[in-house]
Amino acid sequence: MRARVSVLLSAAAASLVAVTGVCWTGAALAARNGIRAGGPGVPYANMPAIAPIGVRVDNYLDVPGSAKGPPVDPVKGYRTQQLGDGLYMITDGAYQSIFMTYEDGVVVVDAPPSYASRIPQAIAEVSGKPITHVVYSHAHADHIGGARNVGGRPIIIAQAETNRLLARDNDPNRPLATVTFEDRYRLSVGNQVLELSYHGNAHLPGNTFIYAPRQRTLMVVDVIFPGWMPWRRFAVAQDIPAYFAQVKEINAMTFDTLVGGHVARTGTHADVETQLAFIEDLKTAAAAALKTTTPGEGLAPSDRSGNPWAVFDNYIDRVAIACVNQLTPKWSTKLAAYDVYIWDQCYSMEQSLRID
Ligand SMILES: [Zn+2]
Repeated sequence: MRARVSVLLSAAAASLVAVTGVCWTGAALAARNGIRAGGPGVPYANMPAIAPIGVRVDNYLDVPGSAKGPPVDPVKGYRTQQLGDGLYMITDGAYQSIFMTYEDGVVVVDAPPSYASRIPQAIAEVSGKPITHVVYSHAHADHIGGARNVGGRPIIIAQAETNRLLARDNDPNRPLATVTFEDRYRLSVGNQVLELSYHGNAHLPGNTFIYAPRQRTLMVVDVIFPGWMPWRRFAVAQDIPAYFAQVKEINAMTFDTLVGGHVARTGTHADVETQLAFIEDLKTAAAAALKTTTPGEGLAPSDRSGNPWAVFDNYIDRVAIACVNQLTPKWSTKLAAYDVYIWDQCYSMEQSLRID
């Protein structure tokens, strides 16, 4: 886009100086030529067919059948799925939480506000016992912001970093944990066990791995997205290299069922392998694009010399274009919502590769 614009500008500048004897600035020139400063110009070369960020999509790519889960009853607004002896997942098709029943009560892990008020009803379908414990996977409001809605006065368990963030956020909907741990915590109630462990910051400090050994079920929230493209920018992972390492770590763990905290179905080892393959391809594509893209190409001389942010904008846009083009043939039909977030992932990846 800028290549043609700059040619236009320099030709126009020469003629304007010749005719008027006035040297026009870039912005004045652009205005003179009907190109609004800061507005969109001619598209970059090799622009992908996948709509870039901020452009309306009329027709999203189909969600592959492999990414879908069983239907959610629209009247109830949630679906309950048994994962093993006394262990259940609740989902509304976008969020997931679990609960575990034992002789004297129920342990709830996470309370997404989107359906938290219905968690007691979901529990009542399989157990008449009270909620005795709530475990927080991590501090984010979209996963635990309904904690008050589950009722009762449960013991709340969280990793210490989670409590630090909750104290900072001071959100009445996310009460502080009453029991915290650093590395590991074994919650043993009746004949049921949940093993909580902290593997360091990746998505968010405090984000906890929750393993039910008898049911061979692992819950890790906002890291693995079975069948789907991760949410934008690796689900806003705070530490992207650590996020990559954590996907690898989960891939090496033993479990039969994975609860990722999002999407409509549970995951398997194969889903983790697919996500690992995707992020490795993404890293390779972004690294290659960073190397082969020439900074400043096609940029107006005034922007090239006096506006370093513009130089980066132009360079990074073209890096992202090369990254998206590289990944689309292989991945656009494999992961649901590839079109929704591939630009975000490429922008996020190139940035991490440059600064992490
Ligand atoms: Zn989160």
